[in-house]
Amino acid sequence: MSRSRSQSPRHVPNEKTLKEMTSLIHEAEISRRFPLPLSDIEALLKSRRKWRHMDRKEILGLVEQAMDGGWLAMRTEGNNAYLATRHFAGFDMEFIDESSGGLVPQVPKRERDFYPAIRSWLEIRYRCIAIDVSEVGKRGYRRVGRGLVAVPDLVGVRYLAGFHEDDVEVVAMEVKTDPPRSQHLSEAFRYERFAEYSILAYDTNSLGLFGEVRELADEARRLGIGLLRFPATRTERGRFLEIQTPTRQDPDPTVKHEYLARTLNILRCMFCGTYHLTDDRRRIILSKRDDAWLQYVSGENYNAIRYVCESCEAFLNART
Ligand SMILES: [Zn+2]
Repeated sequence: MSRSRSQSPRHVPNEKTLKEMTSLIHEAEISRRFPLPLSDIEALLKSRRKWRHMDRKEILGLVEQAMDGGWLAMRTEGNNAYLATRHFAGFDMEFIDESSGGLVPQVPKRERDFYPAIRSWLEIRYRCIAIDVSEVGKRGYRRVGRGLVAVPDLVGVRYLAGFHEDDVEVVAMEVKTDPPRSQHLSEAFRYERFAEYSILAYDTNSLGLFGEVRELADEARRLGIGLLRFPATRTERGRFLEIQTPTRQDPDPTVKHEYLARTLNILRCMFCGTYHLTDDRRRIILSKRDDAWLQYVSGENYNAIRYVCESCEAFLNART
C-alpha cells in the first residue's frame, strides 16, 4: 500500500511544535483582537529562531499540518480569509469605547469600585440594562432560604422585542480582582441555571501571564463561560478585552422567571407576554390553587402569583 499523499518527505511536526506555534499565533490574535492573514503568520514564525530557517513552502506545510490537526482554522470576514487558532473566540472579540475605561477609578480599592465601568461595558456590548445585584440578589435569596443559588455581581437584562413574542435574556457577570481559581468557574457556571450568558471578569493584575490565561480560557470555553479582562487602574493603557464570548445557554425557564421576578422585579404580563420593571404589587393577581392539586403541590406554593400589565388591565376593565 502506498501513501495517498505522494509529497516529498518532510519531517512531520510533533504535537509540541504545533502547540508552540499555536500559542505564538494566539498571543498575536489576542493582542490585535483579530485572526492573522497567512502572510502575517509567515512573518511571525520567521521572527523566531526555531522557524527562521524555513522557507515559504515549509511554513505552508506546517500551517497545513496545524489545520489538519485542528490547531488552526480558516475564518472569513467579508472577502478576506484569516487563520485563527482554535482558542480564538471570533471577530466579535472587541474593545469597547474608552468611555467604560474612563469610569475605572484612579486608585480602585475594592471590587465594587469597578462596577460602574463594567456596567457601562456590559450595556454597550450587550445592548442591555445592567444592574448591580451583588447585594439585592443575596437578600432576595436569603429571604426564601435558597442559600445554594449563586449570586452574580452584575446582571445585564436584554429585551428582545418581537411583534408576536417578546423575550428577555439575562447576562450574569462575576467580577474578580484576585487570580483565577477553579471556584470562580464553578460560580459562573451556576449562573447558567437562570442566565443565557455568563461572564467572568478579571482585572489586568489578576489575570496573569498568557499561558495561564489560555488554560482558564480553555476551561471557560468548555463551560460556555465568557471571559473579560478590564483595566486595573484608569491610567493603564490596556482597555476592556473580551477574551472569550460566552456561549448562549438554555436556562431553566422556571428558575429564570423566579430570578427575574424576585431579584430584579421584572415580571411578564400573563396576557400579552411583554415584560415590565415593576414594584407595583397592585397589578399582581393572587389566586389559590385548586384543592384537587394541593396535596401534590410541594413546598408552600399554595398561591399563584401572576402579573397583568397596565395596558391589559385597562383593556380588561373596559370589557367588564
Ligand atoms: Zn399585558
